[in-house]
Order: sequence, then C-alpha cells, then structure tokens
Amino acid sequence: MTDDLREYEVAVVGGGPAGLTTALYTTRLSHDTVVMNRGGGRAAMMTETHNVIGVTEDVSGKELLQTAREQIQHYGADYVRNFVESVERTEDGRFRLSTGSGDGDPAFLAERVVLATGFSDERPDPPLPPTGRGLHWCLHCDAYLFVDEPVFVMGTGESAAHVAMIMLNFTDEVDLLTRGDEIEWSDETDRQLRAHPVEIVEEDVAAMEKGDDGWLEGFEFEDGTFREYRGGFPMYGSDYNAELADQLGCERNDDGTVAVGEAGETSVTGVYAVGDLTAGHNQIPVAMGEGANAGIDIHYELREFPKSVAEIEAEGEVSPDQVPGISRKLREAAREFRAAGDD
Ligand SMILES: Cc1cc2nc3c(=O)[nH]c(=O)nc-3n(C[C@H](O)[C@H](O)[C@H](O)COP(=O)(O)OP(=O)(O)OC[C@H]3O[C@@H](n4cnc5c(N)ncnc54)[C@H](O)[C@@H]3O)c2cc1C
Repeated sequence: MTDDLREYEVAVVGGGPAGLTTALYTTRLSHDTVVMNRGGGRAAMMTETHNVIGVTEDVSGKELLQTAREQIQHYGADYVRNFVESVERTEDGRFRLSTGSGDGDPAFLAERVVLATGFSDERPDPPLPPTGRGLHWCLHCDAYLFVDEPVFVMGTGESAAHVAMIMLNFTDEVDLLTRGDEIEWSDETDRQLRAHPVEIVEEDVAAMEKGDDGWLEGFEFEDGTFREYRGGFPMYGSDYNAELADQLGCERNDDGTVAVGEAGETSVTGVYAVGDLTAGHNQIPVAMGEGANAGIDIHYELREFPKSVAEIEAEGEVSPDQVPGISRKLREAAREFRAAGDD
C-alpha cells in the first residue's frame, strides 16, 4: 500500500485529445484535476494532423499532445506519466486509482473518474509499410491522400469489404487483400462487393517496396506478382482499453465500446467515458467534443454555487468567507495565467 495518496476532484485516465480536453474544461471551470497517462495512444501515432480546423497538417500528433499538456498545466491541472492499473469505489463514494503496488507508486482519490483510454488497432502480420507512409488507420483522416492513387484494403471481415467499396469514392484503383485468410464477410456483402470494381487478391504479401521518401511503392505477393500501391488501410478490428471500465462495472456495447449518455456518463454514477473508448467516429474533433461535454457536465455536478434552497435551509446562507468556490491552487494558477497575459 502506497503512502503517496493524492486527492483531486477529477481524475482523468488517458492523455489523448479526449482526456486532455476534459481536463482543460474541468480545470478552467475550477475543479482540481489530474490526468494520468501511460503515453502512446492513437493520437501519438499521427505523423500529420488532418481534420482539425485551425491546426495545420504539418503538426504531428506528438506535437499536438505536447502543446495540449502544456496548456492544461498552465491552468493548474496536474499531469502524471503513469499507467493506471486499477480503480475502485471507496467507502465514502469516491474513487481510488492505483498506478502500481510498490511503495513509490502514487495512488489517487477523486470524486469523478473520466476514462479516456482509447483502443489499440489490431495489426496484421508484416511486411507492412510505416504508419502514415502507406499504412493508414483512419479512413476519414487519410482517404483524401489517395484521390486517384492505387490503394489496398487488408482484411476479411465486413469492415474490410465496406472500406474497399468506400474507397471507390476517392480512386478507381482499389484492391482488397485477404492474405490467404478465410473470408468472413456475409453473402450479401459478397454480392455487393463483387458488383463493384474492387479486385480481391487472395495471395499473401511476401515483401514490400518503399521509395526514397519512405512511402510505400507496392507489395510483392507470394505468387511472384507485384502490385503498385500508394497506401492503404488494414481492417482487423479494435482492442478497447476497457479494463478499468470493467473493474468499475461500466456497461459495454456489443462492439466492445463503453456505453455512455450524451455527456459521456457511463452506467456507473460518477464515471464518465470519452473519445475512442466510446461509440462514434474516431476523430480528434469528436474526441475533443466528447471531452468538452463531459467536462462541463462534471462542472454542473461538482460546482459549489449556487446552493439549492434545500441546502440553504439545511446549512444556512452562503457567507462571504465561503466564496470563491475554487481551490487555492487553481486560484493562484489563474492569477499567474492572467498576469503572464498582461506582460
Ligand atoms: C495513425 C493514426 C492517424 C490518425 N490521424 C488522425 C487525423 O489526422 N485526424 C483525426 O481527427 N484523427 C486521427 N486519428 C484518430 C485519432 O487519433 C483518435 O480518434 C483520437 O486520438 C482519439 O483520442 P482519445 O483521447 O480517445 O484516444 P488516444 O489518442 O488513443 O489516447 C488514449 C490515451 O490513453 C492512455 N491509456 C490507456 N490506458 C491507460 C491506463 N490504464 N492508464 C493510463 N493511460 C492509459 C494511452 O496510453 C493513450 O495515451 C488517427 C489515428 C491513427 C491511429
């Protein structure tokens, strides 16, 4: 049992765009917040940023996240680089989050928990081109890169078949690579697919060729043929980082995502889930929007004022020495932030 127990109003697990946006809101809305992040994650894999208005394409995921971490810390949030191993409800209704079982591993107590732990993409076997240079994990982000280019889609399930057909909106050269695996899409999808100009290639990939710029140029197949590709999409499913949600008893949807309401509230009171861990489009603006919704909802629940009539009748009127309802730490941070802006 650790001696290092740190108390917050809000504990966010996961420091991707969803979790960092939640923390931005809860901190600026006066709630002591900690973000615990293992590092990595899907946003950190981005070589370029697409679809985020106001952010230019040359910004990498790592740069975007670094700026976001600095922002929340300026407002007074704490950022801890650590993996949260377990979470449980305490007798007083709060949540205890543990980062390990050793003496030096900090633990955290919080009134609200936000799970922003995302998912990992299932990777097919190599040979594969580098991510962002021929291997692409996000259709809505990267389909635009392949207008009039030869592309592949890899996989044998429903999503692979559908993404192959969807890519015909961008290019007339689409191959679906099953790599010798058994086809799993339905008969109806098969009928639909074969009525579209998508070539199904069953041979497995034997080797890959890259250009001097690091981009994929094509695959050599086991039968010795070579096909040119600029890039493509592996479609093998998502492994949701939902261990903490399961420990808390949060309901999950059939596809493995955590079930949430409009503000990201899960089936367990006091626990929220946002971003790629939940259903919906896996996009940074969506993750940020969900983070914002959850952050504002948590503020509605945790803010001190106004007191209700029932509270006033039970506890008396609010006296001047009870306000403002913000911690000393966040008050200081806000003053420093304002002073820095005045320079
Ligand atoms: C290669 C690639 C390129 C993409 N390009 C774009 C793009 O250009 N534009 C766009 O809008 N979207 C893009 N996306 C999608 C976008 O990255 C995701 O939708 C977005 O990152 C989701 O944010 P998130 O915060 O939910 O999850 P993530 O960004 O995956 O962050 C989750 C974080 O939680 C941490 N974590 C998990 N479990 C724990 C734990 N137990 N304890 C502590 N930390 C934990 C992880 O380490 C990770 O840091 C891309 C995705 C990929 C894979």
